Order: sequence, then C-alpha cells, then structure tokens
Amino acid sequence: MKDCLFCKIAAGEIPSDCLYQDELVYAFKDIAPQAPVHFLVIPKEHMDSAACIDEKNSAVVAHIFEVIAKLAKEQGLDGFRVVSNVGESAGQTVKHLHFHVLSGRDMTWPPG
Ligand code: 5GP
Ligand code: ZN
Repeated sequence: MKDCLFCKIAAGEIPSDCLYQDELVYAFKDIAPQAPVHFLVIPKEHMDSAACIDEKNSAVVAHIFEVIAKLAKEQGLDGFRVVSNVGESAGQTVKHLHFHVLSGRDMTWPPG
C-alpha cells in the first residue's frame, strides 16, 4: 500500500535489519527495542491489523507463527512473548499487521 511504512520496509525501499524473508513474510529488528530481543514479523501484503484476519487471508498468519517459532529456535530463545496491538487504544502506531516478538528479560503480566 502506498505510504505505508511497513510495506516500504518489506519491499526494501526503507532499510531495516532483516532476520528472515520469503515470498509471504518479512521479519526485522524493531528500531526501538523494548527487550534485549525485539523483532517484528509482518505479511508482505498489506493488512491493517489483526482485526482484518478472515478465512481468505489467515494462511499467512499461520505462516508468520511458523517463522516466529523457527527464528526463536535459531536464536535459542527459551521464553518469548508474541504481541499484536490492534487499534490506537491498544497501542498500535503502524497500521500494517505486525507481530512483536520480545525476549531476553522477565515479562510481567498483565501488560500495561
Ligand atoms: P506498534 O506500536 O504499532 O504495535 O508497533 C510498531 C513498532 O514499529 C514499534 O515497536 C516501533 O518501534 C517500530 N518501528 C516504527 N518505525 C520503524 C522503522 O522505521 N523501522 C523499524 N525497524 N521499526 C520501526
Ligand atoms: Zn502496509
């Protein structure tokens, strides 16, 4: 989508620290890490948020979780948190579906 930051990152038009990509998904380090390990996994095709997941596009979400598990294993993470903020009230600042993967420190629950 035109003027979408994460579409531009996935297309390589804006530089990022890429960890993995294939035809469907792109994984890269968060520019403002909130934990010693903090990366994002996104679909290359634009979707606004997890509120847009339906029976026609959910396969990419399953694939994103396969990629998360693969990267976590490669990085030797023994515990990690996966977060997707949906809407401004939940803290979503970039309106392209993304899953945060956070690790390397103790996490509190419930999140703030
Ligand atoms: P949200 O707040 O929408 O849940 O998450 C957006 C995330 O994108 C934030 O953690 C923020 O640090 C990250 N981010 C914003 N702009 C950029 C950028 O240009 N490059 C990278 N690598 N991460 C970004
Ligand atoms: Zn986008």
